[in-house]
Amino acid sequence: MFSKILVANRGEIAVRILRACRELQIKTVAIYSEADKNSLHVAFADEAVCVGKGPASESYLNISAIISAAEVTDSDAIHPGYGFLAENSRFAEICESSKIKFIGPSADNIRLMGDKVEAKKTMQKAGVPLIPGSKEIINTKDEAVRIIKETGFPIILKAKAGGGGKGMRICHSDISLTSSLHTAQSEASAAFGDPGLYVEKYLENPRHIEIQIAADSYGNMIHLGERDCSIQRNHQKIIEESPSPAIDSHIRKKMGQCALRGAKAIGYQSVGTVEFLLDDDGNFYFMEMNTRIQVEHPVTEEITGVDLVKMQILTAAGEKLKLKQGDISFQGNAIECRINAEDPERNFMPSPGQIDFSYFPGGKDIRIDTHIYSGYDIPPYYDSLIAKIIAKGKNRKEALAKMKRALSEFLIEPTKTTAGFCLKAINDIDFINGKYHTGFVDKFLSK
Ligand code: ADP
Repeated sequence: MFSKILVANRGEIAVRILRACRELQIKTVAIYSEADKNSLHVAFADEAVCVGKGPASESYLNISAIISAAEVTDSDAIHPGYGFLAENSRFAEICESSKIKFIGPSADNIRLMGDKVEAKKTMQKAGVPLIPGSKEIINTKDEAVRIIKETGFPIILKAKAGGGGKGMRICHSDISLTSSLHTAQSEASAAFGDPGLYVEKYLENPRHIEIQIAADSYGNMIHLGERDCSIQRNHQKIIEESPSPAIDSHIRKKMGQCALRGAKAIGYQSVGTVEFLLDDDGNFYFMEMNTRIQVEHPVTEEITGVDLVKMQILTAAGEKLKLKQGDISFQGNAIECRINAEDPERNFMPSPGQIDFSYFPGGKDIRIDTHIYSGYDIPPYYDSLIAKIIAKGKNRKEALAKMKRALSEFLIEPTKTTAGFCLKAINDIDFINGKYHTGFVDKFLSK
């Protein structure tokens, strides 16, 4: 087992990982930027090392500063969390060559799944259904037109190195294709240093369903069911739940088997998520694989009783998975609302700055994952996620009632947040009936 883990992240996920380490009696090291010196993750860790200035490029993305921090503190493993360096294959490689265990899959797996075009080819070979589209990168309009002859409009242009919805453009007709190509290419270049794009048929109003998997280094692999992440704004998830109201045990089994087939084809180890789009007829298509712990992992934890972060740490330390597929069962329903420091009244503009007062809901079956507190100053440099509220119930109705109660108790001043927006969304009749898709938020905002 590891004796000391360095957590190469910040915010709620750093706190979440530090909690798992403490329960496993593993010593911890936090890294932080100058802007984060008062962050909860710094106070929670046994040791903390400042790795640079506020902007992520000068701290949380500074590989040499992070490796040095691990070396001077004698850390034997690094947990990357999500975002920042979590899906950076070079970082995973440097950890390994520095004799520090990267808590995640192999650098090869990260590289393969990080290249969305190669990932799709690999999954297709493994018999996983794909969204129709290009098999290779497209560079010119002519190449795109050739693909669109087969798929028809609408299509979506996506970045080969994609992530965070960047470099994505939906295109409904030939007229906007040239300009969409240019914008998507320059966005992809700016975000990933790689302008490579591919084309996919744009599915109208699908559901985003993802399967959580876990694998050890002995070839044992299980899935832990699905999460429905269809409530999104600008392709970014806001509310997630498990089980999905659109999935029955038959589709769950099929999707689970597909996810495992794909992950087995690449010899995947660690926890990971295989993302699919699901249409109204129950057809599903591989979209991408995330080779890390995800923001929305708590909903799976709440209905399976599995601590995914501990499972990730233990399997990285060489332990065998203790659970077999038959041991995984689903109890009740869980919903997560992401609370972002954003102002829904002003087009979700970020709302950083000092929090004068905060009150978090509690009570039975409410879980809050957060790094903020009264007096905390939200830095302007990072993601606007400040808290996740997770509610659990013996059925969906009860989970929803608990979430409504929790959201109405949540108080933070003077920061603007998305809590009220989430409350309105889950009070919407389509959400209550479970009849929603990835277009829900746009439809809801225009009501
Ligand atoms: P990223 O990794 O940048 O977040 P994803 O490939 O995971 O991008 O897609 C994010 C979201 O964009 C999906 O959840 C879905 O709502 C939408 N999306 C992506 N591809 C398609 C598609 N082919 N058809 C319809 N919606 C799509």
